[in-house]
Amino acid sequence: MMTHPAPTQASRNNRTMKAAVFAEPGRIVLEEKPIPRVGPRDALLRVTTTTICGTDVHILKGEYPVARGLTIGHEPVGVIAELGEAVSGYEVGQRVLAGAITPCGQCHPCLDGHQAQCGGKAMGGWRLGNTIDGCQAEYVLIPDAMANLAPIPDHLTDEQVLMCPDIMSTGFGGAESGRIRIGDTVAVFAQGPIGLCATVGAKLMGATRIFAVDALPERLAMARSLGADVTINYKERDPVQAILEATDGRGVDVAIEALGTQATFESCLRVLKPGGVLSSLGVYSGKLTLPLDAFAAGLGDHKIITTLCPGGKERMRRLMNVLASTRADLRPLVTHRFTLDRIEEAYDLFASQRDGVLKVAITP
Ligand SMILES: [Zn+2]
Ligand SMILES: [Zn+2]
Repeated sequence: MMTHPAPTQASRNNRTMKAAVFAEPGRIVLEEKPIPRVGPRDALLRVTTTTICGTDVHILKGEYPVARGLTIGHEPVGVIAELGEAVSGYEVGQRVLAGAITPCGQCHPCLDGHQAQCGGKAMGGWRLGNTIDGCQAEYVLIPDAMANLAPIPDHLTDEQVLMCPDIMSTGFGGAESGRIRIGDTVAVFAQGPIGLCATVGAKLMGATRIFAVDALPERLAMARSLGADVTINYKERDPVQAILEATDGRGVDVAIEALGTQATFESCLRVLKPGGVLSSLGVYSGKLTLPLDAFAAGLGDHKIITTLCPGGKERMRRLMNVLASTRADLRPLVTHRFTLDRIEEAYDLFASQRDGVLKVAITP
């Protein structure tokens, strides 16, 4: 059993740190905030690398409500700075990451296998940068540390594991929830960071024909380099028609939705074989309707399944295993780098999808 030195909380109590906080719709700003106090089951991480997520852009625009003054960010990679008195098995100074979803590991939904729904409310496991301060800061408090801190193997760099907390876990989750079988044909609608990881996940699970759909040529090129067999630019070709033609009208076994719009959801359903699985990852807003013709009036044996980013240290360990094995390399997804001081610039670039940006690495 590893031990750790006595907490040095007193030394940090009066110190402040830089943090990116939600000020009001349209404004996420860098502010000075107190370094968080560590409770018995928490760990304080000194953040070494983090990133911005599409969800953070929804928060920025006021489309997803969070409290004013909340620190944003849910993809932490860092070093343990302090451990709560009830936390054992870790050491100060250890390199770790935590998932975007930080389940308690003890409540009914957690023990029932639905860690993302921890606490029993939908999305209850998503706490960082949602219901508690997040990690676009110099320090972040990780709740229920023993369920969530995943040590990073020495030979993996921060950037190599930066997709684990959310993007890789979510994208792979879409492939896993779709129950892809060896030899399957899969369509992935949207090739943003999560869609690209769904493409990688589909290949790892044994799909032998993967259609990747997007409108940005650089994203389609990335999809091809990461394992897509056929790329379709929906601005040039109707993807539904193209996929149905390419499968002799049979449709795909699994369709993965990775954007969260009516159009992509509906297209997934229209390319899906009867009995197929629509695996939905997107965050929808407004109203989502089901076209009954594509849904065979409810009699097509279609399965529709949704996945919120799987979290917890065991999930993170498995994802890092994939990277350590070199069966997947997600480093190409990190296209831009910023220091925390320039995070407002990073938001501007990321939100506008300029300059071929996929993911930005933020280093405090
Ligand atoms: Zn996210
Ligand atoms: Zn729980």
